[in-house]
Formats: sequence, C-alpha cells, structure tokens
Amino acid sequence: MERVAVFPGSFDPFTIGHESIVRRSLPLYDKIIIMVGYNANKKSFFSIEKRVKWIKQVFKNDKKIEVRIHEGLTVDFCKKVGAKYILRGLRTSSDFEYERAIAQVNKKMHPEIETVFLLTLPEHTPVNATIIRDIVFHGGDASMFLPSCLNLEEFKRDIEE
Ligand code: ADP
Repeated sequence: MERVAVFPGSFDPFTIGHESIVRRSLPLYDKIIIMVGYNANKKSFFSIEKRVKWIKQVFKNDKKIEVRIHEGLTVDFCKKVGAKYILRGLRTSSDFEYERAIAQVNKKMHPEIETVFLLTLPEHTPVNATIIRDIVFHGGDASMFLPSCLNLEEFKRDIEE
C-alpha cells in the first residue's frame, strides 16, 4: 500500500523551513501532499493562488509531491486522499505544546492516523512566516528565508496589489 503523508499548513508564505521538512521527509513516503489550508473567515497575507503557485514551483521536479487546497479539518482531508500520516515540523517548546495537543486529540478521534514530527534544522529554528510577512510588508529583503527558486519581485508585487 502507498504511504501517503499530508503536510498541512497556512504557508503564508512557504519558507526554507517548510521546504526542508518536506525534502527530509521524502525518503519516508511514497507521496507527500502539501495541504494549503483555506479559511474563508481569515484573511491571509498572500492569496491562496499565489501560495499554491509558489509551492508548486519549489517542487516542480519532485514527482512525489502534490499541492492541494483544503478548507476544514486536516483529518478529513487525510481520509479523502487516503493518507495515514500527518507531517509537522517542530522548532521550539511552544511549537511542541501546541502540536502535542492537536496530535493527541486527532489520535483519540482518528486512531488510524499518525502525526509524525521532524525537528527543524538548527539554522531554521527562527524562520517564522509572521516575521517574514513583516519584513516583506516593510520592504525588507526576506530572500534568505525563502526557497531559492522563488521570484521575489512577485512577492513585492503581491503586497502592492
Ligand atoms: P500552521 O498555521 O498550521 O502552523 P504553518 O504554515 O505556520 O502552519 O506551518 C506548517 C508546519 O510547518 C508546522 O508544523 C510548523 O511547525 C512547521 N514549520 C514552520 N516553520 C518551520 C521552520 N522554520 N522549520 C521547521 N518547521 C517549520
């Protein structure tokens, strides 16, 4: 049976920290679906279309990776696509406490789905989408925190639109 994992997140924007978690997980699974969470009641900084386009660009040469949009619970998405694993990255103890609660509640409700954690690489620990949004918003250069293939001009244009 195919081992399918879902990597859920808002990815607003997708950073080198996210990219690293996905690439390091690739040998463990047959397929990884990056699930971009959509919340109609919450305004994102970058549009859902841009976020999906950027992630697809990052993994355009990786056949094992899919990018999909989902509104609602991650576990419902996992069932829909036949995934038994939820992938998450851990940076700090506060990430751990937050993730622990969600993973344990999910496990109680859906025992067949395992949440799998990868510790971030030390150099990615401070990479945080909120800080990157702030840098971009104020016209700073966030390129060192973003996947190298992304076109930064597009980031800038997006906030000017
Ligand atoms: P969410 O809004 O669901 O927390 P994010 O887009 O912020 O979504 O993050 C998605 C996943 O990526 C989470 O598991 C988060 O802990 C992880 N992550 C975020 N930044 C990093 C990083 N710099 N290094 C490793 N993992 C990260």
